[in-house]
Amino acid sequence: MNPKSFEYHAPKSVAEASSLAEEYGMDAKFLAGGQSLIPLMKLRLLSPSHLIDLGRIPGLSYIRDEGNHLAIGAMERIAGIARSDLVRRQCPILSQCAHQIADPLVRNMGTIGGNLSHADPTNDMPAVMVAAGASIVAASGQGSRVIPAGDFFVDTFTTALKGTEVLVEVKIPIGPTRRGAYLKLERQAGDFGIVGVAAVLEMSSDGRCLAARIALTGVGPTVVKATRAEEILKGVELDKNTIDRASRAAAEEAQPSGDLRGSAEYKRAMVEVMTSRTIQAAARRRAER
Ligand SMILES: Cc1cc2nc3c(=O)[nH]c(=O)nc-3n(C[C@H](O)[C@H](O)[C@H](O)COP(=O)(O)OP(=O)(O)OC[C@H]3O[C@@H](n4cnc5c(N)ncnc54)[C@H](O)[C@@H]3O)c2cc1C
Repeated sequence: MNPKSFEYHAPKSVAEASSLAEEYGMDAKFLAGGQSLIPLMKLRLLSPSHLIDLGRIPGLSYIRDEGNHLAIGAMERIAGIARSDLVRRQCPILSQCAHQIADPLVRNMGTIGGNLSHADPTNDMPAVMVAAGASIVAASGQGSRVIPAGDFFVDTFTTALKGTEVLVEVKIPIGPTRRGAYLKLERQAGDFGIVGVAAVLEMSSDGRCLAARIALTGVGPTVVKATRAEEILKGVELDKNTIDRASRAAAEEAQPSGDLRGSAEYKRAMVEVMTSRTIQAAARRRAER
């Protein structure tokens, strides 16, 4: 099926994109890689009259080491993140996530900004951003603001972005004491996950877990923060009993519903299994820098 006709705009700056969004309001949509938006338009689930292409705005595609964090431009493609040696060395959880998203065709077009702004509860990047304690930079003609990833995902397909704001950058903390992992259970390679778990641990030199952040994909209306599981891991050695208790807590905190990928009970059971594996994988990781 073809989308309904629309007017195409190619602004040359974020301020111009934002002012077009203000002018056309609910009739307009930003276009990034088009990997989520165009299929929805083809199915006529969305029919914006104006598409504002962010792809012609210079300077939105980069990956930079800024000392205590990686800065990634919104239009950086998922494939670019998966290929990046810098990301693999400094933030392996993000590299691991990017490799598990869809297939090479989708990764070549899809962007980090689009993956986050779309706020699909089965998209993989949101949980990684929440677990990593990332910040999201939103800009409009009126200036910019920084939104913690934990506050960015509000509901299914709903973020804290205002209609005129463009997600321009993601800042992901990095550092020698952090260990992160993202594991996803999928029916076949390239599929959206049945369940995904992101875990980032702050480890002491004597092997204790000083703090943990755990976030779940695909088991709620938006990213689920497993805060009770995090509390169980805090300040202790990660022995089997502790990891088992934290994994059970994460499963209880999940809010799955049944669909083609499995029943709610099955997904909850898989959260327990995948959380245990992800914590162990993160703890096994060497220092990230
Ligand atoms: C076959 C297939 C399989 C997939 N599998 C996976 C998967 O396993 N895991 C996964 O995570 N994703 C998956 N995806 C989704 C894919 O990662 C998309 O690329 C991503 O969700 C959207 O990124 P995009 O750049 O294509 O955004 P677009 O489709 O262009 O935009 C998506 C939405 O975000 C808004 N938007 C985009 N960029 C910005 C911005 N900078 N500021 C404000 N709003 C913005 C748009 O207005 C639109 O509403 C899959 C997609 C397909 C087609």
